[in-house]
Amino acid sequence: MRKLPVFEVIQPETEEELLLFRHKYHDRFMFSSGGTGLIPELKKRVYSPEVLISLQKISDYDYILYDQATDTLKIGATTKLKTIINSDLIEKYFSGLIDAAKSVAMPQVRNVATIGGNICLDTRCLFFNQSYEWRRGIDKCYKFGGEKCNAVKGGKRCFAVFAADIPIILISVNAKVKIMNELDEEVVIPLKEFYTGKGKKPNILKEGEFIKEIIIENISKKEAFFKKFRLRQSIDFPACSVAFSFDKDSNGKFKNPVAVLGAVDSGPVFVDLKGILEGKNFNDDEAIELSAKELEKRAKPVDNFSSTPYYRKKMVGILFKKIVQSLES
Ligand SMILES: Cc1cc2nc3c(=O)[nH]c(=O)nc-3n(C[C@H](O)[C@H](O)[C@H](O)COP(=O)(O)OP(=O)(O)OC[C@H]3O[C@@H](n4cnc5c(N)ncnc54)[C@H](O)[C@@H]3O)c2cc1C
Ligand code: SF4
Repeated sequence: MRKLPVFEVIQPETEEELLLFRHKYHDRFMFSSGGTGLIPELKKRVYSPEVLISLQKISDYDYILYDQATDTLKIGATTKLKTIINSDLIEKYFSGLIDAAKSVAMPQVRNVATIGGNICLDTRCLFFNQSYEWRRGIDKCYKFGGEKCNAVKGGKRCFAVFAADIPIILISVNAKVKIMNELDEEVVIPLKEFYTGKGKKPNILKEGEFIKEIIIENISKKEAFFKKFRLRQSIDFPACSVAFSFDKDSNGKFKNPVAVLGAVDSGPVFVDLKGILEGKNFNDDEAIELSAKELEKRAKPVDNFSSTPYYRKKMVGILFKKIVQSLES
């Protein structure tokens, strides 16, 4: 059993305290919510913060609300995946989110893991998420401030994989995130714009900034689905994943179809399928085949994660077709 390094843990109970602490500890700390993504990596010395500021005790960030007048769902950042899975509101308005949340890790992890932590999960790589002793035997790569990539020979950047399950279904329904910026101001941006697509630093958060809330507007108009391929069914990060969302038009055909791919690049891959699927029936085999091929083309996995790049690319198309086959025409 690997030991944790020594660090201080601060547990603010209110937003006011949190804002004070994040200024006090400035660039010496990391946030922790459920800790399920972070703690294993601290044990491996992947990150070495002096201080962890835990968001766990701030009950103000733990809620699921639905506003009928604006047809908007709001989810606090520290809401646990277990709470999302058991929520009647989410079941009624956004059941695809439950499928995505259920696919994360295992029940023991989902009991404490939060939606905010999932959105901010760092990118992953077989050469990065390793113990200090293992990594000592290879050259420092871009992700650790070095000058090379150990996964892609001659690679000019970090190709670490965006492997969080929940953001892709959120992006497919055009979710937004409320960020508390460094000036203590709340800023709302589309989640799609939150990600940089870069393995080295996957999101735009600056030192000390954090996510407060997830906002999903016009949710009852959307149909959204999620499927994931992983090597171990009981517990595993995705080898690839697909979220697919659309509105139904008055004739029951596809309207505004979009797909978002996970674990096949360093950020979520957004694919607008309007040009292929708009106005088409759910059983239009030709359009569905064309869409699957387009998704396979847009997936750019490299050999630094579970399964082979070729297999992951192919599985993207298969997952998409499985989703469409499950739709009722
Ligand atoms: C065995 C195992 C299997 C796993 N399988 C999966 C899987 O299949 N799919 C998957 O997606 N994940 C998986 N994970 C990773 C992790 O459990 C989940 O991503 C989880 O949702 C992370 O949430 P958390 O609250 O525990 O985040 P934490 O570990 O607390 O934080 C994760 C990162 O986000 C930052 N952070 C947390 N909250 C905020 C916030 N509000 N604002 C800004 N930054 C924040 C932290 O500083 C940290 O960098 C697995 C983990 C384990 C240990
Ligand atoms: S993709 Fe390359 S640079 Fe990025 S973590 Fe892996 S080995 Fe390092």
